[in-house]
Amino acid sequence: MNLGYQILAVSARRFPQHAALLGPWGDLDYAQLEQRVAQLAGGLLRLGIKAGDRVAFMMNNRPEVVIAYFAILRVGAIAVAVNVMLKRQELAYLLNDSETCVIVCEPATLDAVLAALGEVPSLRNIVLAGAAAPEGVVSLDALAAGAPMPDVAEREPDDIAMMLYTSGTTGEPKGVMMSHFWLEFVSMSWVNLFKLTHDDRALVTSPFFYTIGLVMGVLAAFRIGASAVLLERFKPHAALEAITRFRPTTANIVPTAVAQLLDNFDPAVHDVSSMKTLFSAGAAFSAALRRRVRETFGWESYEIYGLTEAHMLAAGHAGLPRREGMIGVPGANVTVRVVDDQGRDVARGEVGELVCKGDTVTLGYWRRPQATAEAYRDGWFHTGDLGIMDEDGYIRIVDRKKEMIITGGANIYPAEVEKVLAQHPAVAMGVLVGVPDEQYGELPVAVVALRPGASASADDLIGFCRDQLAVFKCPRSVIFIDELPITATGKVARRQLRDQLEARAAARPAGRATS
Ligand code: AMP
Repeated sequence: MNLGYQILAVSARRFPQHAALLGPWGDLDYAQLEQRVAQLAGGLLRLGIKAGDRVAFMMNNRPEVVIAYFAILRVGAIAVAVNVMLKRQELAYLLNDSETCVIVCEPATLDAVLAALGEVPSLRNIVLAGAAAPEGVVSLDALAAGAPMPDVAEREPDDIAMMLYTSGTTGEPKGVMMSHFWLEFVSMSWVNLFKLTHDDRALVTSPFFYTIGLVMGVLAAFRIGASAVLLERFKPHAALEAITRFRPTTANIVPTAVAQLLDNFDPAVHDVSSMKTLFSAGAAFSAALRRRVRETFGWESYEIYGLTEAHMLAAGHAGLPRREGMIGVPGANVTVRVVDDQGRDVARGEVGELVCKGDTVTLGYWRRPQATAEAYRDGWFHTGDLGIMDEDGYIRIVDRKKEMIITGGANIYPAEVEKVLAQHPAVAMGVLVGVPDEQYGELPVAVVALRPGASASADDLIGFCRDQLAVFKCPRSVIFIDELPITATGKVARRQLRDQLEARAAARPAGRATS
């Protein structure tokens, strides 16, 4: 038994000649894909990979990422998905935390991996896809050229199949452990919710280090033998061209990207008539955006709410009467409650923290029993999101309890950035806040108090962050103030700060905070 791998194997048996992957780089049918997976799995065995070892991949959405992912599952190892934007330090932290022994990368990520190499004692091999390998690096093509792995490693349903990293309020990224059972259950649940059939084509533009790309996109499509139209990364023009050319029927896209598709749509050039449904996840999806999607594209769209740690907490309105302002009712086999700070249920319609339990909840955080016990308290995963549930179980998100900024669908944990800001010699104290932005939802802005007598420009501080952090996490602008507002317990009064910034932005219609 190897439930994660079965997602590919069953479709390869049932529909060998059906397209598994389509895209600008060519097509692969299920039989070809599985053959390439078996070849690479053979190569991983020759590198000494055993069941339970951690093998990472750091790639954009190219066919090799799918091949590497299933090859890792086939040998019974744990697939660790790495954000392609991570810088040396962030990457070294993640590879050390997961004790990764092999990483598969591409030309765009090789430099970061080579830079981190000396700091990661567990890392034995770097495998490179898509280019000739320099000395000391293994070529993926050469590795896959030997004998294929003839069988599939046995795994128990509760064994860990993969890990995606996400941060918490501490700002330290943690590996979320997903079991083989979880992959099987969640991918089938998406098939049911999306009403996917073997004839569908799912457009996958989100990267594999987010569940929206890997789990809701590729795994859901493969689970039913449908095709995935794989785009290397989201670019509105390329996505519209891919819709025109490859005729997908469904897609999962973050709201910012949906808005970009609408802004770049040209009916004289693009034909989007193949698409039936759009699922939006990762951040709030407004009714206005849904209306524009229907009026401009003619697609029906649904909002999904969930987390890396817990899927399908509110799974849209598919098959249900729609309630404006609500996301929908909980998805398959998951129970959601709304509780106060003491964990007691609040009355229907009142605001509290959303907590959940069920088959779509993951196993916990890798090697962090304390963080796991805190977040998965008494069997109920605490989302850090504030919401209400109405009499009929429909959910609405109203705010976040946790400190997190969502920009263009990507999460930023202020604590991680603030740690870096604090290392700058001129900074007495710096915090990162999210300011509302029409295009990106929120933008990260640093509010900084400098040390007496010290000086630093906004560019200095932004550059300092960019040297150490993935670009999307870095402040877009810096506001200098004499002193940050502090709460009675000595913490920065973030809400007060955000209110001040909003008032400031409103007073200056030209918009963005500047340095
Ligand atoms: P991630 O772990 O990257 O999937 O991020 C999960 C977080 O994104 C949630 O805890 C929410 O704060 C936010 N989120 C996801 N979906 C929605 C949604 N439909 N509306 C509002 N916030 C959302």
